[in-house]
Amino acid sequence: MSFFSGKQKIGILGGGQLGKMLLNATTKWDIYTKVMDPNMEAPSKTSCNEFVKGDLMDYEDVFRFGKSVDIVTIEIENVNTHALSDLEKEGIKVYPQPNIIKTIQNKCSQKKFYKKNKIPTAQFKLFDSKEKLKDEVARGLVSFPFVWKSESMGYDGFGVKIVRSNQDLEEVSPGACLAEELVNIDKELGIIVCRSPKGETKFYPSVEMEFHPQANQLEYVLSPARIPKSISKKAEKIALAVSKSFNHVGILAVELFLTSDGDILVNEVAPRPHNSGHYTIEAAYTSQFEQHIRAILDLPLGETSNKVAGVMVNLVGKEGYSGLVKFKNIEHILAIEGVNPHIYGKKKTRPYRKMGHITVINKDLNTARKIAEEVKQTIEVITKRYDRS
Ligand code: ADP
Repeated sequence: MSFFSGKQKIGILGGGQLGKMLLNATTKWDIYTKVMDPNMEAPSKTSCNEFVKGDLMDYEDVFRFGKSVDIVTIEIENVNTHALSDLEKEGIKVYPQPNIIKTIQNKCSQKKFYKKNKIPTAQFKLFDSKEKLKDEVARGLVSFPFVWKSESMGYDGFGVKIVRSNQDLEEVSPGACLAEELVNIDKELGIIVCRSPKGETKFYPSVEMEFHPQANQLEYVLSPARIPKSISKKAEKIALAVSKSFNHVGILAVELFLTSDGDILVNEVAPRPHNSGHYTIEAAYTSQFEQHIRAILDLPLGETSNKVAGVMVNLVGKEGYSGLVKFKNIEHILAIEGVNPHIYGKKKTRPYRKMGHITVINKDLNTARKIAEEVKQTIEVITKRYDRS
């Protein structure tokens, strides 16, 4: 193996914050990296060995990029999977495997996958157009309320809407979609599973995910989750079953609903490092980013338990501010014990854009949660005085 201070290269498709954090792990081990992203100012640009500008959905760009490295991985799933399958045929290692990326790119095929593999998930019906869904609603075959999900391009809740009336239904985008049962959610949980090519599998403890009520965006992640042992065992069993059916290599972040009846349902997965695992950098023995690198290089996987409790809070752009970013009051939060800010390096902010995150570590989870709230109220992601628009 000549990845460590060697000639072999890892190629990462996507140069966002997840890529930047993956590069902290590769830099630690002096592994050569090449990144492709359409944005010349992508957060990863300053931390990789080589950077190329390219369109992640373009066959030629992805194929050419893949041919120039030894292993290809992703930090975003909107990539050209046809090119990735052809790279695999040419002997380039692609992790996660292209067929997994293809399945999860489309919410409808992802749901079909769960059904076929007997993974518990919310009841659903698929429609190849909005008109067909409206037709079934009119005929009483689908009734309000339900959750509408667009087949593709969903991200951070943008392709998801709770539909309670015909008026709500009018407002959703056209195109293929699914109608899902509105689940009575007690808690949203996440489990990160990691698997290597030789089949070694490890999972991180369940985390609790709290969402911003207006933006429907992940706001806090609490590790470990405050749930009874019987529930965490059930969640782990299901997450491992999902991992086994995908047969993935690398990180698989499994998002779960704990229902008010005590059932566990799989919402969706991401076959890459995930926002719900950022806390692992400071709170766990092995960060999810190092773990992903260990897995794709078929190295022994690291210990996944927590050293300390961790609460992660996302730092998003404040409403009413668009332009060159300023992190107001960061010096105040740095004075608080256990506060670890991560700034992604995006030059411009806009409302709810993910600009960074903060992990608060503490011996006591509830104390960490309180500090995280204080931090959230203190730091402001706004614009520089001369760039207020
Ligand atoms: P995205 O891929 O855009 O993140 P998700 O499918 O994860 O979209 O849905 C976003 C959020 O919407 C979930 O975290 C959850 O809070 C809510 N949600 C999704 N599906 C359901 C459902 N069937 N019942 C109730 N709430 C749901």
